[in-house]
Amino acid sequence: MFIPFALAASLAFSLASGADTQDHRPPPAPDFNAERDPFELDWTSPASGVWIGVRPQSARLPVTGTSVIVAGETGVLVFDGGGTRLQAERVADKVRAETGLPVTHIAISHWHGDHHLGISALREAWPEAQVVSHSFTRDVMGSTLMDSARNPEAAEPGAFRSQLDAALANPDLAAPARLWLEQALPWADLIEAQGRTARIPEIDTGFDDSMEIDLGERVVRLIHLGPGNTKGDIMLHIPDARIIAAGDAVVHPTPYGFFSYPADWAAALTRLRAFDVDLIVPGHGDAMSDWAYVDLLIETLQSIADQTAALVAEGHDLDGVRDHFDWSALEPRFTGGDPFWANRFDVWFKRPILDAAWRLETGLDNEELIPHEHGVD
Ligand SMILES: [Zn+2]
Repeated sequence: MFIPFALAASLAFSLASGADTQDHRPPPAPDFNAERDPFELDWTSPASGVWIGVRPQSARLPVTGTSVIVAGETGVLVFDGGGTRLQAERVADKVRAETGLPVTHIAISHWHGDHHLGISALREAWPEAQVVSHSFTRDVMGSTLMDSARNPEAAEPGAFRSQLDAALANPDLAAPARLWLEQALPWADLIEAQGRTARIPEIDTGFDDSMEIDLGERVVRLIHLGPGNTKGDIMLHIPDARIIAAGDAVVHPTPYGFFSYPADWAAALTRLRAFDVDLIVPGHGDAMSDWAYVDLLIETLQSIADQTAALVAEGHDLDGVRDHFDWSALEPRFTGGDPFWANRFDVWFKRPILDAAWRLETGLDNEELIPHEHGVD
């Protein structure tokens, strides 16, 4: 189930010493006894004028992207203002409480809706704010790729709860998937109500490589390091704070493989690796202060590209690629052998990324841009 809610890098490596040899340790299985609604964020301020809002337990349903606020002397940039209106309203409250400054820029890391479908709340609060993204992301907004978010109020009332009930009624549903769906039941009405507020944003400015934004005594840079999770991934670099927010090019602990570009993604993360920063902010999951997980991603994505190319060259179709692909050196380092994380890794990464890799290897486009008006309803 895909939920629609689915360069001038310094050469020095300055992250925690020993990062090169330290291996990534997978997290314990999540405890879903969450008292707070799934749109609440935990805020930290790792540097002056920077606030990072992370939804605790990143694997909770619905997936919810991290929001980053960065303030200069005259204005505020919000990077990924919220996949739902409620999240964006909370981001707006945080901006008001901490800065007293206007939001001048709203940047969108990539086109997946959990990063932007709520930002109408920010635009209404600060109508002068410029919405900025990669030019590909801007073009996606008018394409059939966004069609699932185009008529959020058309769904039958109660449809989300019915979907959950129907999935849970399946006796063959794996226990970890059951756990994942059950934790959403108390919040089903709120999740559905938030889904109805989704609005596809209008993007004022698209760029291809990078864009500098002056917030007053603080210049930040939005950068595209190449295709990865999508064709239009951008990251937020805050040089004076030594922070980079990576969007969904880095998602912890389970990356999302849908429609992605494994070889290009590995190359983009290798470029990220050269940035002189102290903190990497994933698009989902806690911020990290060493490169161990990024290194694991690079190794994994390169292996996916290499193994898929070799298997396709041997004449395998997609099922054959799935059957012969060797995950043994990679998967345990993401899941720790935990059944819940193994299930998420299968659903969110292994299946979609082998599909994506196979499509690329056989000459298909993972994100074909078809204008909405030419799509099939
Ligand atoms: Zn996301």
